Formats: sequence, structure tokens, C-alpha cells
Amino acid sequence: MMAIIDGKALAAATKAEAAQKVQALREKGVVPCLAVVLVGENPASQVYVRGKVNDCAECGIESRSIHMAETATQDEVLAQVRALAADASVHGILVQLPLPAQINEKAVINAIPPEKDVDGFSPVNVGRMQIGEPCYLPCTPAGCIRMIESTGTDICGKNAVVIGRSNIVGKPAAMLLLEKNATVTICHSKTKNLREICAAADILVAAVGRAGFVTGDMVKPGAVVIDVGINRGADGKLHGDVDFAAAAEKAAFITPVPGGVGPMTRAMLMLNTVQAAARQNGLA
Ligand code: NDP
Repeated sequence: MMAIIDGKALAAATKAEAAQKVQALREKGVVPCLAVVLVGENPASQVYVRGKVNDCAECGIESRSIHMAETATQDEVLAQVRALAADASVHGILVQLPLPAQINEKAVINAIPPEKDVDGFSPVNVGRMQIGEPCYLPCTPAGCIRMIESTGTDICGKNAVVIGRSNIVGKPAAMLLLEKNATVTICHSKTKNLREICAAADILVAAVGRAGFVTGDMVKPGAVVIDVGINRGADGKLHGDVDFAAAAEKAAFITPVPGGVGPMTRAMLMLNTVQAAARQNGLA
């Protein structure tokens, strides 16, 4: 019997967990605070930022939303990030990507101190994750792991296949699965025999960015299928990377789009922010 992994329900439970931790910190006089920097008028980014601010409110986390003009210079954005870095009442700093063309994304991300890098994108955090040191795990892959574990699946020893090798999803997802002792294969645009590789996966994570890329024949019977893709179709609706109807006939567990990895990603950011506040106050 196939079961849908309910991202919304799991995200709600994760946010409740964050809210409880916030309560405990507040009782010790620490009010977790997330600063979100948005540069420009990208409509999707505006929606994401609003979502994060709402999530913070829901969890009892304070938020500061800083909206800078589309024409902001690199120096202005860097100065803003540095001011937040120096502000002890701010525990997490998130710069909403993409940034306007005149701004060097790497330089801005690097200006976020590792202890406040709740997105987990800075080189120091990425390095710490690789060697298994305390860090902030990137929210989307960490959410994927939670979703897999929510099914009761023991990742240890499983054949896990990740399609996609981006720095924000594919690579860290593969690393976290490896950390959980899966045998991991990473597929990308140059992979040969991708279909066969996927069809042997006990756990299949799709982070390609192409609607319907994973077809039913690429899903092993009984597999856990995690669909990270968010693709807006000609119909105006959101579609995952997986042909849901076909894959659902084979999979034991599958995430829907929307209502899957997306809400979990947001919830994981709340947990990272709480963790940042605890660590910066010597309470973790
Ligand atoms: P990228 O475009 O950075 O990476 C896509 C990856 O897919 C690349 O590694 C690319 O390979 C690979 N790929 C592309 N085409 C093929 C193909 N034909 N065969 C095999 N591999 C292919 O995307 P992201 O990782 O940033 O995002 C992936 C998807 O996840 C997107 O739909 C995005 O919107 C969504 N997303 C969802 C989030 C959420 O919260 N749910 C968060 C972040 C992203 P190569 O490296 O060889 O080019």
C-alpha cells in the first residue's frame, strides 16, 4: 500500500517542536531572532520572505525583515549583513537568493558568520557538514531526511539515489544520506543509464527542476520517493520532478508537490534559528 508523506502535517509538527524550544529559551531570557534580507522586487522571493516571517511568528521567533532596493550596491548589502552579524540580538541571518545581478552572491553569503548562517550555505558550514562537525544543516536536504525517517524507513544500508548535484539540494542531500549510512549514488545531466540506476533505488530523491522527469518505470516497487522539484507548469500550477500518479503506483511512500518538501524546508529553518539562538547563548 502506497502512503503519501504529508509535508504539511510534518512541517506543523516540526514547527510545534521549534515553538516548544523557543518557549524554553524565552524562559531563560533568550528571544530567538531571525533577520531576513531581501534585495529587490522578485515576486517569488517576496512570497518566500513573507512565508518565513509568518513561520517565525507562529513559532514565537522574532523576525526582522530588511527590504533593500533593487538598485542597492554590493557595499550596501555587505554593510547590512555585517551590521546584523555584529548585532547580538540577531541569531540567524538569511539573505534571500537570487540577488540582483550587480551583487556578488558569494561575497554576501561569505559575510554571514557561520554561527548565524541558518541556511547552511556558507563554505564553513558546508565543510563542517562534510566532516560531521556541529553545523547548520541546509533546510531542504535536512527536511528530506526527516520526511524519509517519518515513514519508519531505516536509511542504514539502503540504496539511495539522488538526482541533481546542486550545492543547495543534491550534494548536501547525498551527504546527509551517506551520514545515515545509505549507499549513495548521485545522478546528474551527464549520468549514463540514469533510468536503471533510479529503478534500483530504495530511496529516490529527485532535485532536477524538470516537471515529470521521474517516470513510473524509474521507481522500484516499495521505494521511498522524495520529490524536491518545484516547477510552475503552463497551467500555472506547481509540479514536482516526479510523475506522481505513475510513481505512486510503485512507491511505498511518496511526497506530493505542493505540500511536500516545500513546507518541510520552511519548518527546518525555524529549527535552525532556534538552535542558533541556543548556541549563541551557551544553551546548546
Ligand atoms: P539546479 O538547477 O541547481 O540543479 C539541477 C540538477 O539537476 C543539476 O545537478 C543538473 O545536472 C541536474 N539535471 C538537470 N537536467 C538533468 C537531466 N536531464 N538528467 C539528469 N540530471 C539533470 O536546481 P536546484 O538543485 O536548485 O533545484 C532543483 C529543484 O528543486 C528545482 O525544481 C527547484 O525549484 C526545487 N527546489 C525546491 C526546494 C524546496 O524547498 N522544495 C528548495 C530548493 C530547490 P548538472 O549538474 O549536470 O547540470
